[in-house]
This record gives sequence, structure tokens and C-alpha cells, in this order.
Amino acid sequence: MEQRYAIGVDLGGTTVKTGLISESGEIVFQTKLPTLAEQNPEAIISQIKKTIHDALQAARGKHLAGIGIASAGIIENPGGIVKSPPNFKGWESIPLGKEMEKEFGMDVVVDNDANAAAVAESKFGAGKEYPNFLFVIWGTGVGGGIILNNHIYRGQFGGAGEVGHISIDYKGLQCNCGSIGCVEAYVGQKYLSKRTIEKLQHHPESSLHKIVGGNLSALEPIHLSQAAEAGDEFSRNVLLEAGQLLGVAIASVMNMLDLRVTVIGGGVSAVGDFVYNEIIATTKKYVLTPLRPGITVLRAKLGNDAGMLGAAGLVL
Ligand SMILES: [Zn+2]
Repeated sequence: MEQRYAIGVDLGGTTVKTGLISESGEIVFQTKLPTLAEQNPEAIISQIKKTIHDALQAARGKHLAGIGIASAGIIENPGGIVKSPPNFKGWESIPLGKEMEKEFGMDVVVDNDANAAAVAESKFGAGKEYPNFLFVIWGTGVGGGIILNNHIYRGQFGGAGEVGHISIDYKGLQCNCGSIGCVEAYVGQKYLSKRTIEKLQHHPESSLHKIVGGNLSALEPIHLSQAAEAGDEFSRNVLLEAGQLLGVAIASVMNMLDLRVTVIGGGVSAVGDFVYNEIIATTKKYVLTPLRPGITVLRAKLGNDAGMLGAAGLVL
């Protein structure tokens, strides 16, 4: 059968990445532009149109299934309305999907970047062999997506998969979202670094002080990982605790949906294997006994291309 292709656009705060992707996940054409987020929505919309026109050139003679767009912000469907993507000037609510359908005369699907990354891992990455799994983005914040029967589960209004805002302590830390004890408020990069800096004042022996050259504000989870692997007990404990807390939240999802597999991507997910082992052990501990067999936690495979690949995956 003839191979199908789709155009995938990853609209982020810093870059617009557009690719022509085959149904087997091969990137056959790609462009990357710095997002004109400082200008106005019209400028960004023309950027997107231009990159899609370029990709269409590359798609000549090929069977094109459609266009998918992964965007930051909240996406309302149907209509692919993109609401207030962070750092985009003057962008409140724009029917991006409709606008693109008018321009290109074909189906355009818009979804948020976390859902798109989940779709990418499902179709082309670590989740390929699993029809059902939880995808977690462990980065600045904690986000995610739910894959059920090989499809993204969006919920009634497109907001499903907010694993970062599962509360792990109803009397716990304040989260940016307004709620209390969200797992993001403990293990999201920003929060994790902040809490670690506070604790470090009582741990002058930690090699972290040296690693960041005395400048604690430069501390990032990767430093924790480096220090831990070089034998720093303090860093190891911080990351083990983060793994446990994330495991508790993941277990809640497993219990609710009887999922067994979690795929983790995002900036912090590069931490060492010992953290993954802790996540798995904790998840198993907190799920009901009959659900324990097959509990697996995997690293995402697609890295920075996940948004673009997943955007294409939305229509493939
Ligand atoms: Zn929250």
C-alpha cells in the first residue's frame, strides 16, 4: 500500500518546527524558525503558513493525510482554538485550526503539546507496542497525556492528562495552579530546584555547592543527577524522593485507569536509572495488588522532535 504522509507543526514559544512525516515516523523534510512571539498573532500565523507551504512543496506527488499542529497553551476543540499560549504577545483566543483549513483546504487538527508528544511516543516511540499508557512530561512543570486503545484521550473539553496536578498531600505545598499538594509543586524542575536550594543550606558537605560554582541559583536537576552518580548522598536522596513522589502520582492514575505502562519525557527525565527504579518501586507499592504485574516505566524516545512528530501523528 502507498505510504501516507502528514505535515506536523510544533508551535512553541521559541521555535516553529514544521516537518513532513511519513506514517512510519520518518522526517523527510523539516524547517525551523524562531517564533515571532514578541510581535503579534498575525506574524506567527503567517510564519506557520509559510512553513506549511514549504512542506507542501516537499509533499508533491505523495499521499498527504492532513496537517496537525501541536501548540503551547490551552486548545479548545472542535475548531482548534488556541488560548493564551504562554509568552505569546497579544494572543488570547485564536481559531488556528479553522484559519489553516481555510488557507490549505484540508483537515487540520490542533492539540496541545503534551498530547501531541504522547501521540508521538504512541505512534513512533517508546509506547509503540503499548495500546494503553500514561505519558508524563517531567520538565519545568509536570504534564502528560493518556493513550487509550492507541488514541489520545482528551476528556470532554480537551483537558485530560493533567497528571502534574494530582495532589499527593492535601495539606501540602502550594501549587501555581491554585491547588494544594500537586505533585508538580514537589518535582517540577522549578520547584525541585527551589526546594533543593533551601535544603542545601543544611548540607555544606554536598558536592552540589562545587558543581554550581557556589551559585546555587544556577542549580538544575541535571546537576543533581551528576552529583548523585558521582556519589553525593544528598543529591541521591533528593532525586530518590522526587522519584517516590512522582511514583505516588503515577500510581493514582494506574489505579484509576488500570494502565500498566508509563512513558516519561521532558527535561528532567534524563535523570539516572536509579530514579526510574525508585519510580517503578513506588508505583508498584501504591497500586492495588492485582494491578502490579506488568508495571513498567520507560524513557521517552523522541526528545525535541516529539511535538512535531506527534502533530503529524494526530492526522496519520
Ligand atoms: Zn497544581
